[in-house]
Amino acid sequence: CGIVGYVGFRQAVPLVLEALRRLEYRGYDSAGIAVHTDSGLAVLRAEGKLVNLLEKAYAAPVSGQVAIGHTRWATHGPPVERNAHPHTDDQKLCAVVHNGIIENYVELKEELKREGAQFSSDTDSEVIAHLLARERGSLLERALSVRRRLSGQFAVVAMDRRENGVLVAFRQGPPLVVGFGEGETLVASDPAAVVSLTRRCLHLEDGDVALLSPQGVQIFDATDRPVSRPEVVLDWDP
Ligand code: GLU
Repeated sequence: CGIVGYVGFRQAVPLVLEALRRLEYRGYDSAGIAVHTDSGLAVLRAEGKLVNLLEKAYAAPVSGQVAIGHTRWATHGPPVERNAHPHTDDQKLCAVVHNGIIENYVELKEELKREGAQFSSDTDSEVIAHLLARERGSLLERALSVRRRLSGQFAVVAMDRRENGVLVAFRQGPPLVVGFGEGETLVASDPAAVVSLTRRCLHLEDGDVALLSPQGVQIFDATDRPVSRPEVVLDWDP
C-alpha cells in the first residue's frame, strides 16, 4: 500500500521508517524493511502496526545507506509476517516492495517453481523478486525485462545484494514519486513521504523504469529509451 526507497549517505533504516510513518494514513496491515548491509540484504518484517516493526528495528539495529520499506494492504495471502514485504528470492539476491496486483502471478510462479525456485509467501508480489534474481545483466537491465513479463498494476522498488548504492523503481498504474536531496535520492508512493527529505521531485510516468543512485535518477520509458520527466517543487505541508 505504501512504498519507500532510499539511497544516500545517511543511516537508511530510521529514515525509511520515518517516511513509512508519513504513509500510515493510507491504512495497512503489516510492514517491513530491507537494508543493504556489508553481509548482504537484511530483511525485517512485522504484522500489525508500524510500532511492531520499530520495536524490532530498535532491538537489533542494522546499518546501511540503502533501504526499501513497505506498508502492506493484503490482496493475495493473509496479513501475516511471511506475507509482509519486502520479499526476496530464495538466494536472497534481490529484495522487492510492491503496491498493486500481479495478474499473471500464478503462471509465473508455476514456471519459476519448475525451474527450482522455492517460494516462502502466498503473495503475488514474490514472483518479482525471483524473476529479478534470475535474469542476466545489471539490475537496471533485469528490471527493464522483468516489467515486460508482469501484467496487472504495480509500483515496484527493488535492490540487489550484488549492486550496492543503487535501487530500481518501475510502475504501471500506482504512482511513484522520486525526490532529490544533495547526494541522496528517495522514491515513494506518495509525496507525503518525500517531503521528509526534500521538496524537489518528479513523478514517474506509466511504463517508466528508474535507476536511483545518490547522484539522482536515470529514467527509461516503456520503449526502454532514456527520458527526462519534469521536476516539480512540492509547496505544501503534509
Ligand atoms: N498484492 C500485494 C500483496 O498482497 C501488494 C499489496 C499492497 O499493495 O500493499 O502483498
